[in-house]
Amino acid sequence: MNIHEYQAKSLLAKYGVAVPKGGVAYTVDEAAKVATELGGPVWVVKAQIHAGGRGKGGGVKVVKSIDDVKTEAKRMIGMTLVTPQTGPEGKEVKRIWIEEGSDIARELYFSALVDRATGWVSFIASTEGGMNIEEVAHDTPEKILTVAIDPATGFQQCHGRKLAYALQLEGAQVSSFVKLAGSLYKAFQDLDMSLVEINPLVVTKQGNVIALDAKVNFDDNALFRHKDVAELRDPDEEDPMEREAAKHELSYIKLDGKIGCMVNGAGLAMATMDIIKLYGSEPANFLDVGGGATRERVTEAFKIILSDPNVEGILVNIFGGIMRCDVIAEGVVAAAREVSLNVPLVVRLAGTNVELGKKILAESGLPITSADDLADAAAKVVAAVKEAA
Ligand code: ADP
Ligand code: MG
Repeated sequence: MNIHEYQAKSLLAKYGVAVPKGGVAYTVDEAAKVATELGGPVWVVKAQIHAGGRGKGGGVKVVKSIDDVKTEAKRMIGMTLVTPQTGPEGKEVKRIWIEEGSDIARELYFSALVDRATGWVSFIASTEGGMNIEEVAHDTPEKILTVAIDPATGFQQCHGRKLAYALQLEGAQVSSFVKLAGSLYKAFQDLDMSLVEINPLVVTKQGNVIALDAKVNFDDNALFRHKDVAELRDPDEEDPMEREAAKHELSYIKLDGKIGCMVNGAGLAMATMDIIKLYGSEPANFLDVGGGATRERVTEAFKIILSDPNVEGILVNIFGGIMRCDVIAEGVVAAAREVSLNVPLVVRLAGTNVELGKKILAESGLPITSADDLADAAAKVVAAVKEAA
C-alpha cells in the first residue's frame, strides 16, 4: 500500500526524522489558513497524488505570499496532474500540502528497501538527488552507494557514517544525518515498510539535513497489525477495478493486452500470461481467483475482466485440485450465462474429474472452446481473437 507524501512525512516525523513543517488542505481557504499559521516568508504548495515527478508536471510550486499560495491552491485542487509516473491520463488532485520553503544548498537521494536477494534492509544513497534514480543507476552507477543492514545488529553508527561520507556531508551534518538514518530504519522496521524514498534529502544553506520529499510503501501482508497505517489508504488513488477485485478476494492487476485471463494460483497465472505472449498476443490482466474458485467468485472475475473494454477474448486456466473440475465447469457455465459473454472463451481444465468438466462445457450450448493443455489453450484463444477481429 502507498500513502501520500504528507502522511509519510507525519509518520516519519514521529520517529524523529527531520521534515518541513506543513499542513494539508482540501480547499483554497484551508490552504490560506495553513499558510498563515506557518508564517512564511516562503511556502511550497504541493499536490498530493500517489506519483512522483510532480515538480515537472506543475504540482510543486514555491511561492512568496499568501495570495500566491491561494492562486496555486486554486490551480492545483481539482486539476489533472500529469507526471512521468502517472501515465498520460494523469491523476486528479484532491488534496494539497503546504509546507515551509527550505533554502536548499544540496539535493541528495536517500532510500531504504527490502533487498529481495538477501532479505535484508538496504540503504541507498547518492549525491544525485532530485533526479530519477534509475537513470543515475544506469548512467553513473559509481554515484550510488548501497549499504545492507544485518538484522542481527540493526542500524549502526558505522552504517550511517559510511552513507554520510558517500553523500559528502561534513561537520555537524554527519551527526544529523546519522540520526535521521537511524530514525528511518526504526520507522521502517516498526511499521513494516517495504520502501521509503527520500528524494530529495536536502542540506539547507543553514546546514540542516531535511527530508524534503517522502514516498513510503508498506508490505500489504503486514497491514493487519498496523490499523492506523491501513486507515491512511486513499481509495481515490487505486484502480477501481483492482479495488472491486480485492473486495471479492481476487488478485487482479490490469495490463494493456487484449486477452483476459482467469486462473487459480499466482504461479499458474504468471505461466498463462507468459504463454499468451509466446503465442503472439498480450494478456489484458493478471487474475488469480484463489484456491476455492466458487461460482460466485468466477462470476465476479468474469465481470471484472469484461469491464475492461480492451478485452477481446478470455482464457480460463484452472487446475482442479481442492475444487473438482466439474464444479468449476458448472461455475464457468453459470457465470458465462449471467454476464452474457460476448467474446470468445477458451477453457483449459486439468485435475480431478476433468472429463466430466469438459462434458459440462461441451453440453452447455455456449460457445466455449475446450483446450487440452496450456499450449493448446493459448493457441486457441489467440486464434479466436484474430478471427473475431
Ligand atoms: P516530486 O518528486 O514529486 O517532483 P518533490 O517533493 O521532490 O516532488 O519536489 C520537487 C522539487 O521541488 C524538489 O526537488 C525541490 O527542489 C523542490 N522543493 C520541494 N519541496 C520544497 C521545499 N519545502 N522547499 C524548497 N524547495 C522544495
Ligand atoms: Mg521527489
